Amino acid sequence: MKKNKVVAVVSGGPDSIGYAAYWKHKGYEIHPLIFHYGHKGSKEVQVAQDLCKKLGFRDPIFIDLSDLKQLWRGTQLTDDQIKVEKEYAPTVVVPIRNAVFLTIAAAYAFTIQAKYVIYGAHLDDNTPNPKTLEPIYPDCSPEFQEALEAALNIGHFRAARGLQIWSPAREGLRKSENLKRTYKIIGDLIYETWSCYLSGQHHCGQCESCINRHKAFTEAGIPDGTIYKKYPGLGDWDTAVKYRGGYISAKYIEPRAKNREKP
Ligand SMILES: [Zn+2]
Repeated sequence: MKKNKVVAVVSGGPDSIGYAAYWKHKGYEIHPLIFHYGHKGSKEVQVAQDLCKKLGFRDPIFIDLSDLKQLWRGTQLTDDQIKVEKEYAPTVVVPIRNAVFLTIAAAYAFTIQAKYVIYGAHLDDNTPNPKTLEPIYPDCSPEFQEALEAALNIGHFRAARGLQIWSPAREGLRKSENLKRTYKIIGDLIYETWSCYLSGQHHCGQCESCINRHKAFTEAGIPDGTIYKKYPGLGDWDTAVKYRGGYISAKYIEPRAKNREKP
């Protein structure tokens, strides 16, 4: 039987990679798209490619949007003049980035007759900004996804409509809940995903994305096996040990070291 196709926007991060792995696990054929948009965290592009292979997705298609860097000025992720911050600030949002990616993904989905387009938005991206009560990442909201889905279907022939856009957010899942489900499916490969907004040898451990990654592992009750340049410890109980030129959670490494000592 022919497998149903899914077009997956993947970044190399645990949210999108994990969500695509979940759909593969459900029996779908995954057609990944990887975007380069001139961002500082472009190391994730290589990570995404490697993980697509290891997880048995179809060969990914690279979409080079690096020229968009010229348009997306003043955001932390694409503008060299703007520093990547430790905590959320609206300047981290690349305006309607997901609308751009999902529209391109939908163009591909209509072409190859895939019914689903998926991406990694989750409920924490929808945390209300305390001042405006808007989602902190507006193009991650389920409402946005439903509206875009409707518009894209209306933009194509009636007989070909029926495209759906799915994400952990639309399923009502938080980052840690998606992570937990992903870990059950892909195991230790989860540590090979890349969250950092920069492209160093290890995760920096200081940007908003590194901190959210570490928090999500902690909330999910999964020992964090990520190597950080500077450990994003959440309290006195959250200690790290030196490892391969960086730091790794003691909770991850110590039990494994003990297991190795056993004959
Ligand atoms: Zn980082």
